[in-house]
Amino acid sequence: MSKWHVVYPVASSGKRQSPIDIETGKAQLNPCLKPIKVKYGAGCCKTVVNTGDSFRVDVDDTNSCFTGGALGDGSVFKLVQFHAHWGTAAGAKGSEHTVNGKLYPAELHLVHWNTKYGNVGEALTKPDGLAVIGIFLDIGDEDHPEVEKVIKGFGDIRFRNMTHNYQVEIDPTKFLPDDMSFWHYEGSLTTPPLFESVLWHVLRTPIAVSKRQLDAMASLRIGSCQEKDPSCIVNNFRPPVPVGENRAVSLFTGEANNEVEALKKEVKELKDAIAGLKVDFGRNVGRN
Ligand SMILES: [Zn+2]
Repeated sequence: MSKWHVVYPVASSGKRQSPIDIETGKAQLNPCLKPIKVKYGAGCCKTVVNTGDSFRVDVDDTNSCFTGGALGDGSVFKLVQFHAHWGTAAGAKGSEHTVNGKLYPAELHLVHWNTKYGNVGEALTKPDGLAVIGIFLDIGDEDHPEVEKVIKGFGDIRFRNMTHNYQVEIDPTKFLPDDMSFWHYEGSLTTPPLFESVLWHVLRTPIAVSKRQLDAMASLRIGSCQEKDPSCIVNNFRPPVPVGENRAVSLFTGEANNEVEALKKEVKELKDAIAGLKVDFGRNVGRN
């Protein structure tokens, strides 16, 4: 990873590379951010493939829809795939984003593309072409039921380029935590070609998976067969890049949004009341 800049100069010369360390004290509440709204459609998760550096679940985006967040009014993004980054089965942590310097055990990335570009290939290189929802994975006592459905396919994708077709319905909305507060910043893909095209939505609240589930990820193999490279895919994360002066990270929370909405409602009620007074005043003037 430290040599990426040789082939991909943007790795070191870029202005909005990812991931970053999120310093929570510097993240400003931004009233322009909206609640994240997602819908992915039943049976949208078709296939999982071992890419040699992660697993990737490819998604049928026909009924997929991501709006709100930092996407701007009228923008619709669609989920194209999801994958994850992790540490080692021995317990090393492997999230890409860090929070006040702290790593989580792993990080799940739901990758969406901006439908205004017609297809994901066109969107890939545009500054607002992609939107990734990043979900931190913590270790809990119990299996995560929806993640378990994903992992059930791993028996068929032990080696690179192997695929498994899902017969079960996996609903990616079930990966999302109850509290959908998020940090937003403009960044990049974290793997080559590192295009600076991602509107990041990093969820503040982690979800819990079991140690066994994380171990299943860290037991996928890098090579296409036992002979070629029997090593496991471990530490497949890019460490945070230094954050320049102009890299503002903003924050959305449900509570702050409720306050803004309540204020908007009050302002509207006041405006209506003033308009009513004007009408009354007009009538009274007319009477004299
Ligand atoms: Zn990723």
